[in-house]
Amino acid sequence: MAKENKVRIYNRLFFKLYLNYAVMLLVTAVLICLIFIRLYEENTMNNHKIQAENDAESFSKMLTEDFIKTGKYDEFLVFYNRLVKFNGMDIWTFSNPYALTPMDERMATNSYEELEESEYEDLVNRAFMGEKAYRKDYDNIYEKQMSIVAAPIHDTGGNVVGAVLLLSYVEGQKDIVNDSLKLIVFSSVTALAISFIIVIIFATELSLPISKMRVTALELAAGNYNSKTGIKREDEIGDLAKTVDILSEKLLENEIQRKNMEQMRLDFFSNVSHELRTPITVLRAYTETLVDGVVQDKDTLAQYYERMLAECKSMERLVGDLLLLSKMQNPDFAIEKEPVNLIQVFDDIIRSAGAIAQKKNINIEVNKDCPVLMMLGDYDRLRQMFMVILDNAIKFSDENKTIHINLIKKDKIIVSIRDEGIGIHPEDLQHIFDKFYKSSLGKNSGGTGLGLAISRQIAQRHGGKIEVSSVQGEGSTFTFTFPLLEMEF
Ligand code: ADP
Repeated sequence: MAKENKVRIYNRLFFKLYLNYAVMLLVTAVLICLIFIRLYEENTMNNHKIQAENDAESFSKMLTEDFIKTGKYDEFLVFYNRLVKFNGMDIWTFSNPYALTPMDERMATNSYEELEESEYEDLVNRAFMGEKAYRKDYDNIYEKQMSIVAAPIHDTGGNVVGAVLLLSYVEGQKDIVNDSLKLIVFSSVTALAISFIIVIIFATELSLPISKMRVTALELAAGNYNSKTGIKREDEIGDLAKTVDILSEKLLENEIQRKNMEQMRLDFFSNVSHELRTPITVLRAYTETLVDGVVQDKDTLAQYYERMLAECKSMERLVGDLLLLSKMQNPDFAIEKEPVNLIQVFDDIIRSAGAIAQKKNINIEVNKDCPVLMMLGDYDRLRQMFMVILDNAIKFSDENKTIHINLIKKDKIIVSIRDEGIGIHPEDLQHIFDKFYKSSLGKNSGGTGLGLAISRQIAQRHGGKIEVSSVQGEGSTFTFTFPLLEMEF
């Protein structure tokens, strides 16, 4: 499976995150620009208005104080010319025709008549009424955006004797925007450029672990269960990565288990084939010899038949053991349990094994602390289980030895079978319950290596366990532990 990212660039998480962040930043920047320009423009205009009104008022006061009060009307023109030259704005003064004593005509730069019907008439009229008036407009005469302020001129008695009109060029909206926009755009672009770089870091931080997890998931899908995300974070992404890592560990464990099972299965087949091969080979050889008619001697023939029968029995035992083991291992196979007296089971097996034990002059000693020891179980299976152990104890003991059987009832039922036989090598000890395991001592020619595996299965199916301890040369002890039957008998 391809590890490289085949998702189209515009569908990639990084790209989407980056785009989201970038668009968000861009919108914010544009909004800030627009709001700023609007406020800046309003503020500038307002300042301009205040400034113009103040100027008009100061000028009007100056006229009252310096000229009207003193009567120095002739000096006004000189002052006016100098002022206009300096200020660069147009100042018009009008005498109020409606006043009782209008302002001296020498101080009026323009006559009210020529103002009539003009666009400034309204402003000047409002000044004549004692108000300040302001207007910002495109002026046809100047062909520019102009701010015009009109203010009343008072005589010493406070009567409105005239009006002053201040005309000044004002930067239009576009000019203000143009001036400030350059600055704002420049700073916004710089801020955006820096933010876009920071956004790359953010987007990478979020998208990189996800693409790492994707690669890990692909690796897992391809069967590489050693693959880990290697992400350590304290957030939800970290949690997810941890989960992916746990998943990979679990998959690895399962894979190991699967391989072990597979190996066990293969071993099992090869063991079964191996165990069957010997008797089949022997049977075939004997049968061929018999078919050839070479052997005529009665005693030899009897020997042949006996050997063939023994091999058939051994095969029968092997197949029987295998069937039983597979039955025991099948969780669907239920053991029919009934109350069983273990003392009775042991009487039974000692009777059966007695003949072989006697042959080797082996004494079987039973120690019991009560005449009846009940447990729930399948009589035949329990008998078979203990029989395997007793058989082995006899098989692996030398002549004239004793086998000690202890039946103890405490909070559990404990059954131990101790022999004084050859013992088990420590290396073999952990394997003796495995299927087909036979120690290399060679004293076990007739065994299939299935006995202890069957015993253990039966013990487990009865809710119990089997343990072994052994000292080589001194003997072995097999100990069973079963839960006590709750009922009293
Ligand atoms: P088998 O049916 O061949 O006896 P088991 O599963 O009963 O196989 O036993 C497995 C191996 O455990 C035997 O081959 C033997 O080496 C060892 N073993 C079992 N019981 C004893 C014992 N009492 N003393 C010494 N070795 C034992």
